Amino acid sequence: MNFASRVTSARSNSSARGSRTHSLAGALDRHTCVGTLWRAESDRVRCVACGHRCLIAAGRRGICKVRFNEGGQLRVPFGYVAGGLASDPVEKKPFFHVYPGSDALTFGMLGCDFHCPYCQNWVTSQALRDEAYGSPIVEVSPEQIVQAARRSGARLVVSSYNEPLITAEWAVAVFQQAKEAGFACAFVSNGNATPEALDFLRPWIVAYKIDLKGFDDKRYRTLGGTLQHVTEGIRMVHERGLWLEVVTLVVPGFNDSEAELRDIARFIASVSRDIPWHVTAFHPDYKMNNSSATTVRQLIRAAEIGAEEGLRFVYAGNLPGRVGPWENTFCPQCHDVLINRVGYLVRDYRITSDGKCPKCRTTIPGIWPAGGAAEINLSDPASDFFQRLPRRVRLS
Ligand code: SF4
Repeated sequence: MNFASRVTSARSNSSARGSRTHSLAGALDRHTCVGTLWRAESDRVRCVACGHRCLIAAGRRGICKVRFNEGGQLRVPFGYVAGGLASDPVEKKPFFHVYPGSDALTFGMLGCDFHCPYCQNWVTSQALRDEAYGSPIVEVSPEQIVQAARRSGARLVVSSYNEPLITAEWAVAVFQQAKEAGFACAFVSNGNATPEALDFLRPWIVAYKIDLKGFDDKRYRTLGGTLQHVTEGIRMVHERGLWLEVVTLVVPGFNDSEAELRDIARFIASVSRDIPWHVTAFHPDYKMNNSSATTVRQLIRAAEIGAEEGLRFVYAGNLPGRVGPWENTFCPQCHDVLINRVGYLVRDYRITSDGKCPKCRTTIPGIWPAGGAAEINLSDPASDFFQRLPRRVRLS
């Protein structure tokens, strides 16, 4: 089925479509197709794109609000991007063990299956929950996204900004063409995954980032998820052989106790000590505008806990140049610095073309350029931290 035939207009008869969100929801509903990740169950449809597994009656929407049952079929987002396209440093995703120094053409849609009060992408993720929010959408084809990736010089094509699991069919349509064109593809997700969604994605992506937002199920439920679904998501991604990096935004008063950070680190280490753990600094945003930002001391302590629990690659993010050695990659065997970073800048890269430490020959897990350091865009040591800001990429 080609792109033009898959993007079809939805009929406007749904009782589930809210008031002001009528116009936004209506615009989004016109950019849908019949999805793949669902099955019929008696007179309803069961969506299996995320861990909520919504059972949706005719004319109703799932928790994410962007997938809906129309006439006994699940319609899903297709054929647009929200807020345009950006070429981001891969370190912003953050992936620190995937083609360091390269750019990732990044696209997103609208909506999320969670509703975190400190979301840093709330303009796109919460667009259908809150009337004040929303980002312009632009109709686009997978081919146009791949062309934009080529023009921007990206090495990766990444689905991010909103929760990509809820728009997985669109992501796969883009990834299929991106992979054929030679790009590596990746997912930036909250980890509320299902085996069905991961098996659907697996042929097209090489890397997956998951936010592990804490280790307290009661508090996880206030964000709209469950701890077990996310820990299971981490296990399932790892079992499928995808390169996985885990991020915890350290939010003072929410998840920053020593005990909770230690529980998170222990859990990741129980899956694999080779999974990089990024602890990143919170800044007041969205509905948590009056909360305190994470301090340098708090962030470094979180990183130290990760190392104490046996994780071999721990990074402290969002405070460039202020966290000492916690932005660098070290050989876990001989402790030599292998990648020297400041923020999104790569200042030095020493991993060999066969993915090893040049001094002790220990294999360093990750997806490294086959050409070794010769393929890395090193930043000028005299440059400031902002040299690699995300760039907007125009559609042709
Ligand atoms: S993606 Fe998740 S929240 Fe949305 S309809 Fe499917 S199961 Fe429900």
